[in-house]
This record gives sequence, C-alpha cells and structure tokens, in this order.
Amino acid sequence: MSGTSSQAEKSNFSLFNSLTEFNHEQVVVCNDNATGLKAIIAVHNTVLGPGLGGTRFWVYNNEQEAMNDALRLSRGMTYKASISGLNLGGAKAVIVADKDTKKTEAFMRKFGRFVENLNGKYITAEDVGTTTKDMEYIAMETDHVVGLPENMGGGGDPSPVTAYGVYMGMKASAKKAFGNDSLAGKLVTVQGVGKVGYYLVELLVKDGAKVFISDINEQNLKHTAALGGEVISPNDVYSKKVDIFAPCAMGAILNSETIPQLNCAIVCGSANNQLKEDVQHGNMLRDRGILYAPDFLVNAGGLINVYSEYTGYVRERAMAQTEHIYDLTLDIFHKSETENLNTQLAATKIAEERIHNVMLVKSTY
Ligand code: NAD
Repeated sequence: MSGTSSQAEKSNFSLFNSLTEFNHEQVVVCNDNATGLKAIIAVHNTVLGPGLGGTRFWVYNNEQEAMNDALRLSRGMTYKASISGLNLGGAKAVIVADKDTKKTEAFMRKFGRFVENLNGKYITAEDVGTTTKDMEYIAMETDHVVGLPENMGGGGDPSPVTAYGVYMGMKASAKKAFGNDSLAGKLVTVQGVGKVGYYLVELLVKDGAKVFISDINEQNLKHTAALGGEVISPNDVYSKKVDIFAPCAMGAILNSETIPQLNCAIVCGSANNQLKEDVQHGNMLRDRGILYAPDFLVNAGGLINVYSEYTGYVRERAMAQTEHIYDLTLDIFHKSETENLNTQLAATKIAEERIHNVMLVKSTY
C-alpha cells in the first residue's frame, strides 16, 4: 500500500487501526506486473475453519475504498459462516480492476497462485464480477476454490439457493410481524432483480405475493417482469407502501436518508452489508417498528451451497440446511427482544459467541 501513504495520511486511514478494530488475522496484498493483477485477500477469522469468501472484481475510487470493502466483507463472511453453523471462517478477496478490460486466463490463474500460497487458509469462490469460468481458471492453480460448474463436480450458480434462504427468512419475518408465515397476498418490493432477485421473485409470485420490482438494468427488469413482477420507478422504491422491502442489489442502502422513507413492516433481502451502520441504523429501524432480518443470516444459502461443494456436493442437503434459516431467524428475533438489542446486533452476538466457545474448545485438552 506504499502508493497510498500520502492519500491515507490525508484521510487519517490507518490499516493497522482498521485491522485492530475489526480484529482481522491477516491481509495479503497481491501484485503482478506481468498481468497487471492487483488484489487484496483479507482473512478475518479462521477459528471455525478456513476462511471462505468470494472474489470481487470491482473498480474502486481509491485503494482505501478497496481495502475497506475487503475488510468489511471478510468480517461479514465470518459471521455468516458462524451463525449458519458451518465449520468455516471468514475471508474475502477484491481484485482492483475493470473486469471487462483486464480479465484473462493468465490474470485469473495468477490470482489462483496467490490463493494457493495461502495453503488452504483461504478458499475462494464467485462474487460480484466473477463467474464460474473464472473459478475454472483459478482451479488450474489451486484446489482451494469452490463455485465450480456442475460438470466439474461443483454446485454451479449458488443464487437460487441464496434466494431460497432469503425466502425462508422472509416467511419467518412474516410469522413474527403478522402472526402467520404465508406470503400469499403480501405486497413485496424487490430492489435489484439480478441473479438472486430473479429467483426470489419467482418464489414470491408462486406463493401468491404481489411483487414490485426495481432495477437499473433494463434487461434484468424485462426478464423478471415476465415472471409477474410489476416494474416501479427507482424513486418509489423506498417510499412505496408494502408489507416487505427486499434489498437485493447493493450494500449500505439502509441509512439515515432512506430509513425515514420506508413504508413497510419488514426488511428482508439478499444484499450484503445493508445497514450503513449496524448500531445507528439497526436501532433506527427498530425505533420505527420495522422488523429487520439480518442480511448475513438470511443470505447464507449461497455460502451453505458452496460449503456443501467443499465437503462433497449434494444439492438436496444444501437446500435442507438452507431451510434452517427459518428457525434461526425466529431465534434472532427472540434474542433481540429478550436482550433489548437490534436484530443485527443480536445476530452478531450469536455469531461471536459460537466463535468464542469453539476457541475455548480448541484451547483445552
Ligand atoms: P447481481 O449483480 O446478479 O444483481 C444485482 C442487481 O442489482 C443487478 O440487476 C443490478 O442492475 C441491480 N442494481 C445495482 N444497483 C442498483 C440500484 N441502485 N437500484 C436497483 N438495482 C440495482 O448480484 P446478485 O448475485 O443477484 O446479488 C445481489 C446481492 O446479494 C449482492 O449484494 C450480493 O453481494 C448479495 N449476495 C448474493 C449471493 C449470491 O448467491 N449471488 C449470496 C449472498 C449475497
């Protein structure tokens, strides 16, 4: 990160302060002049097992933004694995480049070499900007990769399983908020109808929900509207009066500007890091009487799916384990009430407690 020192000083960014704050184990900064590869692999916590998390290909405004993303996302993976009862730690990689101009076989294989050098402490997978094809290239250099195509023994695209987990979390939220977990007749807005949003809309329409959809990608909107989703303007996405708002696009969309606009009883969607600030914005939702289903819990289906690949892929087992998100969501709501914590903090506490307890087991005979 030498090139950022003056920039970092100006913005008071301190890498080691950030690592201390989030309690990260290790961060690897990767550089290869031949291919132009520049990447960060952040390993947050490996108490429960190797750190598994996807590789994000993204154009960041600066190096600090890339580092923050890697740190926040890898910590989220630790909590996601822990609360889902998986024997996995949390990690994430970001490749700092434009996927449309930089990605080549050599580029991805070189990244695979960096993953290999971590000797299994980090297992990579797909994320925004990476595909099963990229995982195939990485697999030429390391065994520590999941999210492979079905013809290579992998589970293929995990998005339908992620959508199923969100649907389970939504049903549990409906049970809590309305006393009944049926989604028939419920009004639901889905923000972002990409890979996960599409499958979620399919499940909701099948259940008889009335679904409103919003996206910045016209093709995805058209594709999903064909399932029965009604397109609404991005300007109405927060304020539309609905029962459930499902953020399935990007993070930090629950913030001081958007939360006052919400006109729903439940927020439950797949996007990672939906709350801009866990305490402030989690409390804000609670104070407004809006039930928030913690993102890292309800979107864990994809991780459960790739974990299943790591241990010998069986789709039915992954789906059955994902179904458990229903009970876990209700447990979180219960803990949130009994401990007077917002639901995100209640979920984080459960995830941290499991890691702490396993650490004690590992430190004894
Ligand atoms: P995707 O890229 O396929 O879909 C995202 C969609 O959101 C796209 O259609 C995009 O056009 C749209 N979008 C972007 N900005 C928007 C905006 N401002 N308003 C409305 N729509 C906007 O991604 P995905 O795989 O469907 O993932 C969606 C979210 O769920 C991401 O936050 C991802 O990190 C998270 N997630 C995905 C999985 C998975 O299995 N794919 C697993 C866990 C979490």
